[in-house]
Amino acid sequence: MRSDRVVQDRTIVVGAGVAGLATALRLAPLPVTLLTAAPLGEETATAWAQGGIAAAIGPDDAPALHAADTMAAGAGLSDEGVARRVAEAGPGLVDWLLGLGLAFDRTPDGALALGLEAAHTRRRIVKAGGDATGAAVLRTLARAAASCPSVTVVVGRATALLQDGEGRVTGLAARTERGIVALPARAVVLATGGLGGLYRSTTNPAGAVGSGLALAARAGAILRDVEFVQFHPTAIAVRTDGPLPLATEALRGEGAILVDSGGNRVMAGIAGAELAPRDVVARAIA
Ligand SMILES: Cc1cc2nc3c(=O)[nH]c(=O)nc-3n(C[C@H](O)[C@H](O)[C@H](O)COP(=O)(O)OP(=O)(O)OC[C@H]3O[C@@H](n4cnc5c(N)ncnc54)[C@H](O)[C@@H]3O)c2cc1C
Repeated sequence: MRSDRVVQDRTIVVGAGVAGLATALRLAPLPVTLLTAAPLGEETATAWAQGGIAAAIGPDDAPALHAADTMAAGAGLSDEGVARRVAEAGPGLVDWLLGLGLAFDRTPDGALALGLEAAHTRRRIVKAGGDATGAAVLRTLARAAASCPSVTVVVGRATALLQDGEGRVTGLAARTERGIVALPARAVVLATGGLGGLYRSTTNPAGAVGSGLALAARAGAILRDVEFVQFHPTAIAVRTDGPLPLATEALRGEGAILVDSGGNRVMAGIAGAELAPRDVVARAIA
């Protein structure tokens, strides 16, 4: 294994979806090596996101209402502090993306167009290019990262976290075109996405296999909440194996109804009907 001393004073961010790119950009001007298994802009769940970004922006909305909707959708299992912090951060992050040049969809009078989606009691979903929000977010962040002087992009797959004798993480090993290299770092951020791609029928990319969770667990981290895997209730059954195209939830937000093969309403009599939280809709379909 070769050792790359150049990056010793750096933070390594693993993963170049929305989480990794945003972390790298927001750490600027601190030097960051952004390690990504695929070239920037490719093979991320981020690029596949369709419905949009939820943020309490509308005149009838507030972060407290967004947090309350999140708690209700979580059926008592959500962490209230996290729900509040995420809801409060939403409007500012939409502003940040606007500042980076992301052209969110607008109404004819120029305001941000706000969509309605499941479990939200207000219109609060911002979109770009209709159902191409994730691709627009990824393009915008990848462009910003590529031109950010403090971010160095390295294409390679993290294979192990390096640790000192006391277990402290000191960098990582990665498989790159130069072979397996050791990348020393002052800190490592794992932003490798989810693990939905492990399931036979999935709306996630094949690379979403929880690799960051595995790296962390092997280095001794205690994982929590791994049983919480969110399933999209509706996909288009074009094959029986591998990733399936999502039938976006925004369809239900705009009035689509779910019927079974006999034409009967699937969500009849269920609270929230088509706009119930995803776990409720998925269970009703199953
Ligand atoms: C079909 C679909 C629709 C969605 N719609 C929405 C929506 O409308 N609104 C919404 O908020 N969310 C939506 N989501 C969820 C959202 O896309 C994800 O939560 C989000 O994009 C996750 O971002 P991420 O950066 O954590 O992971 P990802 O975008 O998956 O990025 C992971 C990155 O890690 C890299 N990586 C993985 N393993 C390694 C490794 N070992 N070494 C190096 N790099 C590695 C990958 O190459 C990739 O660059 C949707 C998801 C899907 C699949």
